[in-house]
Amino acid sequence: MDIAAAPAPLLIDRFGRRVSYLRISVTDRCDFRCVYCMAEDMTFLPKKDVLSFEEVEAIAGAFIARGTTKIRLTGGEPLVRRDIMDLVRSLGSRIGAGLDELTMTTNGSQLAKHAVDLFSAGIRRINVSLDTLDPERFRAITRRGRIADVLSGIEAARAAGLAIKINMVAMRGVNDDEIEPMMAWAHGNGMGLTLIEGMPLGEVGIDRVDTYLPLRELHDGLARRYSLTRLDKSTGGPARYVHVAETGGTLGFITPMSHNFCESCNRVRLTATGQLFLCLGQDDQVNLRDAWREGGAQALDAALDHAMLIKPKGHDFVLDRTRPEPAMARHMSVTGG
Ligand code: SAM
Ligand code: SF4
Repeated sequence: MDIAAAPAPLLIDRFGRRVSYLRISVTDRCDFRCVYCMAEDMTFLPKKDVLSFEEVEAIAGAFIARGTTKIRLTGGEPLVRRDIMDLVRSLGSRIGAGLDELTMTTNGSQLAKHAVDLFSAGIRRINVSLDTLDPERFRAITRRGRIADVLSGIEAARAAGLAIKINMVAMRGVNDDEIEPMMAWAHGNGMGLTLIEGMPLGEVGIDRVDTYLPLRELHDGLARRYSLTRLDKSTGGPARYVHVAETGGTLGFITPMSHNFCESCNRVRLTATGQLFLCLGQDDQVNLRDAWREGGAQALDAALDHAMLIKPKGHDFVLDRTRPEPAMARHMSVTGG
């Protein structure tokens, strides 16, 4: 008689969506203070509250056992977490053993130092956030970053063999005049460009209503000047992609505000303290740190089952002058973008 244990059931929520993508925020800290993401003086979590790498690995392992095939490390800035490469290497060793892909979203400031090791650990693609190519504007948006560090990081990553997608938060009156130059630069260097609509998460340093740029409008403007072909490429995520004939590159649009993409959502987000957020725009969460610390693997598994029962149908972000407070009090750096 075959007594092999049945494989653990996949993670499927009550709307029939299969969760196969875990985003892990490894720290809420960052060396930048981007105006749309953070306040000037942020209070960060005490280090003792942050999950150890062993705990992150245990939680990631539970997800992989339940069918998670893709993990993205993010933050805050993932590359400022001390010894982060230890975690990258250990998660990287799961590639091919349940995990299909390990990726990272980074601001690029520390990339020059880590690019080769990221590739050696099995990472093949990264997202680098960059909202402008102008050094002074870069400094104003990040409040403290040096664009030269990011550009040399990108160079190093390309040289190491990493495919790069540039993420640009498009803001009216801040960087909307740079969308075409950024596209020419990114595509000219073999990188994709994805434009993101600013989302109302946390108190920050800009007026979100004034700077909000609906990407549908922008897309239609670009479509009058470029030959855009819709690509079917679905990441199960919020991005829609087009191929731009004139530049030969891919342009993505992440439009949480003007197009609700929740029906195909396949992801959940683990914070640095072990809270599992089930939607970027809702508060529903499960405490995986306590589950693991108090009940080990079995409790963790039960917590994942519970998570599937409470994953919300979708977010309901709205930008409204009469409701100036952010839709969510927590910053993007907490849930990890
Ligand atoms: N520090 C890393 C970085 O900047 O790439 C990773 C974390 S960051 C929170 C992840 C992504 O979220 C970045 O591309 C950033 O531009 C984006 N982001 C941050 N706050 C946002 C907001 N309020 N609305 C839209 N995108 C935001
Ligand atoms: Fe830091 Fe990324 Fe937020 Fe900018 S967007 S402050 S780089 S976490």
